[in-house]
Amino acid sequence: MTNPTFTRTTRTANLGNGQERRDWILSAGRCAVHIIFIGEARMTEQPDPTSRVWGGFVFGWHSQAPNGEGDKPHTNDCPHVEGGVCFFEGHTSRAEDLAAAWVAGGFNDEVIWAAAEQEMRERFIEPIDFQELMIRDLGDLGPDTL
Ligand SMILES: [Zn+2]
Repeated sequence: MTNPTFTRTTRTANLGNGQERRDWILSAGRCAVHIIFIGEARMTEQPDPTSRVWGGFVFGWHSQAPNGEGDKPHTNDCPHVEGGVCFFEGHTSRAEDLAAAWVAGGFNDEVIWAAAEQEMRERFIEPIDFQELMIRDLGDLGPDTL
């Protein structure tokens, strides 16, 4: 469980009016970390679609089972988790900080993936490892204790 396979997906969508949406989705099958940024075209005399002001939007996660108190049912047809049934929660303040780091890093996607992988490990992987460790330790005490 310490080395699950993560699948990286990126999407770019033109929202019109010079707005662009970027999605980064790091999926581990039963759960996914999802980061969304929105870029606004700079207001210049000559509209320049390649020059955008980027802001955070959502830094969140999809999970087959609720992962925290704020998790809400997302949809029964979520494309980001196996089986499609999903709970979702996200934060905008963390997305703002990450968008700033991404821009400061020269739009380096590795900045995004590193944050997504850290979130995946802290939120989904390490708690499971901890549970497995507890079960193994209890198991070492002998079958009668379980
Ligand atoms: Zn979902």
